Amino acid sequence: MEQLTKKAYAKINLTLDVRHKREDGYHELRTVMQTISLHDELSFRKRGDREIVLTLQNAAEDVPCDHRNLVCRAVSTVMERYEACGGMDILLKKQIPSAAGMAGGSADAAAAILACNELYGLKMDERTMCEIAVRIGADVPYCLFGGTMLCEGIGEIMTPLPELPAMYFVVIKPDISVSTAQVYQALDEDAASWHPDVDGMIRAVKRKDARAVAEYLGNRLESVTIPQHPVIEESKQALYGCGAEGALMSGSGPSVFGIFFDREQQRLAYEALCGIDGIGQIFMAEPAADIRI
Ligand code: ATP
Repeated sequence: MEQLTKKAYAKINLTLDVRHKREDGYHELRTVMQTISLHDELSFRKRGDREIVLTLQNAAEDVPCDHRNLVCRAVSTVMERYEACGGMDILLKKQIPSAAGMAGGSADAAAAILACNELYGLKMDERTMCEIAVRIGADVPYCLFGGTMLCEGIGEIMTPLPELPAMYFVVIKPDISVSTAQVYQALDEDAASWHPDVDGMIRAVKRKDARAVAEYLGNRLESVTIPQHPVIEESKQALYGCGAEGALMSGSGPSVFGIFFDREQQRLAYEALCGIDGIGQIFMAEPAADIRI
C-alpha cells in the first residue's frame, strides 16, 4: 500500500471532572468522552526519503504547517522508534475548529500513528500505539479508539462504555479562544467544591437512557471558564432556547454542544442558530461509535 486516507473525529466531553493536581503538574481527570461525526480528513502517501511534508487545507491561522503540527510530531515520534517507518506526504483537510475543546489536533495525531502503522507495516500493538500517543498529548490515546469511553488519569486510562442511545448534537464554537493552560491555572485558585456526577453519567450510558445522559451533563471547568467568557453561557442558553434537552461546554471550551432527541429538532435548531449574527461556527453532528484499530 502506497497511500491511504483517514477520518479524524472530534470528541466532546459528556462529563468532565478534575480531581486534583498531581506532583508532575498534570491534573487528574475523570471524564466520559464521545467521538462525534464532525471530522478532519487526512491523506497519507509514502515517500522514498525520511521527510515529513504537510499541506493544510481549510485550516485556521493558529494551525502550524511545520514540525509543530501534532500530525508531524506523531509521525516523527513513530520514526524515532521504528527505522522501518519512512517519510510521508500528508494532506490535512481541517473541519474541526482548532483550540475549541474538541481534540482536533489530537485526533489528527492519532490518525497519523495509525497511518504509519498501516502504510509501513510496523505491526504495532495497541499498547505501543498508546505509549507513543500519550507522548503527543493526553487525548491522543483516546482518539486512537474513539467511541464512548471513561478516561481517567490524565486521560490515558481508558474503559470502554456501551454506545450512546440515539441522540443528535448541535455544536457552537464561539469566536473566542480559550487558553487551556490558563483555565487549569484558574481552576487551581478556584474555591468552588462542585463536582459533576461522573458515576451518574456512566449509569445513564449503561442504561441507554438518553434523558438521563442529558441530565447528568457536567463540566468542572465551566465554573472558571464561563465567568471569564460569558459568551459560553450565552451559547448554552441559545441551544436551550432552540429546544436542547441539555447543553454543556466541551473540554476547556469554548465549544458548547446541545443534545436533541430527534433529527428534525436538531435541524431546526441548527437553522435557527445559523441565523444569529456573530454567534460563531455552528455544526450538526451525531455520536460516532467505535471507529479505529
Ligand atoms: P483538546 O480538546 O485536546 O484540548 P483543542 O480542541 O482545544 O484540543 P486543538 O484543536 O488540538 O485544541 O488545537 C490546539 C492548538 O494546537 C492549536 O491552536 C494549534 O496551534 C495547535 N495544533 C497543532 N497541530 C494541530 C492540528 N493538527 N490541528 C489543530 N491544531 C493543531
